[in-house]
Amino acid sequence: MKIGAPKELFAGEKRVALTPQSAAGLKKLGYECIVESGAGEAARFSDAAYADAGVKVVPTAADLWAEADVVAKVRPPEASEVDLSHPGQIVISFVYPAQSTELLEALKAKDVTTLAMDMVPRISRAQKMDALSSMANIAGYRAVIEASNNFGRFFTGQVTAAGKVPPAKVLVVGAGVAGLAAIGAATSLGAIVYAFDVRPEVAEQIESMGAEFVYLDFAEAQQDGAATGGYAAPSSPEFREAQLKKFRELAPEMDVVITTALIPGRPAPKLWTADMVEMMKPGSVIVDLAAERGGNCDLTVPDQAIETPNGVKVIGYTDFPSRMATQASTLYANNIRHMMDDLTPAKDGKPVVNMEDDVIRGATVTNDGAITFPPPPPKIQ
Ligand code: NAD
Repeated sequence: MKIGAPKELFAGEKRVALTPQSAAGLKKLGYECIVESGAGEAARFSDAAYADAGVKVVPTAADLWAEADVVAKVRPPEASEVDLSHPGQIVISFVYPAQSTELLEALKAKDVTTLAMDMVPRISRAQKMDALSSMANIAGYRAVIEASNNFGRFFTGQVTAAGKVPPAKVLVVGAGVAGLAAIGAATSLGAIVYAFDVRPEVAEQIESMGAEFVYLDFAEAQQDGAATGGYAAPSSPEFREAQLKKFRELAPEMDVVITTALIPGRPAPKLWTADMVEMMKPGSVIVDLAAERGGNCDLTVPDQAIETPNGVKVIGYTDFPSRMATQASTLYANNIRHMMDDLTPAKDGKPVVNMEDDVIRGATVTNDGAITFPPPPPKIQ
């Protein structure tokens, strides 16, 4: 059967779901690969590179959707793409099913089977397909690059003939996948890095990466019982107050603040308030990786970089993975290849959507003319 990737339609999206390298892996699983002409251009994969890897290049999206049995995408399918889909086709993409009821209805009506990369259960066996993590890793790294590009000084300390330069101080708020990647990038650039999370179990990881875990002056444990299944839950008002007090102490000292704090299914908690921004030195930079969910900083404007009257830059871009399109496409296409591996038990180029498999069941949001979201909780952890 054939698996293909169209050019992404979402404005500014540069990633592509199939690369010449991932096509080689998909061919080993028995698939023929196709791409729409120009699909990889923005991620620097030319039509010629695909052709060299044995991928058929078709001129239009309509050709691609007509020919492919499996369509791999990055952004959720748009209405025009659903129109091009056909019964029995499999679509694999980010879907965000909780916010995409209309899309699910449309895909169901077309009798398309849809697998949502963002619904892959976060269990050990599925890590190789965990596109949320591979993209969060890139976002964390790129947040530091963006911060350093907007910061007028070195991250590292230096003593040179021209003078002594102090190292930059970076605070990372939220030490999940993105936060840990940001800590890694900032320490490798030579900054002094502090990090905070409501989950105390990350303290060891933070410290092993050369950063300092920020403890609160709070009678209860750091984590305050605020976690479910490894994820954060909203903090108590007392805990939140202790957290904001600590941040107010740190604000005048910090040169760069990178916020990544999220709670599944809720708007981002407001943790870096307007008065904290006012306390920061001119030239300081805030990068808010939670911008798409409303932002952790009061002043964040999604998709924009603004400068406050006291000279602090607040960056609220929501497209960090797409800003590293080659890297992001490579990792995302690998996640998809691994998903296809699981979907092809006989390695014969024939996908089997096995709804008894926890990972496939978790990711499948439409199948057999029905909406299959939300899935039952996985049996294995
Ligand atoms: P996320 O993007 O949902 O949240 C980012 C971080 O923000 C989390 O560490 C969270 O604790 C933190 N946070 C929330 N509220 C906060 C607050 N008020 N102040 C400070 N920090 C706050 O998280 P994520 O990166 O997707 O991953 C989080 C969890 O999922 C971790 O337990 C991680 O180990 C786990 N995980 C497991 C797998 C797997 O097993 N395959 C893969 C990825 C992540």
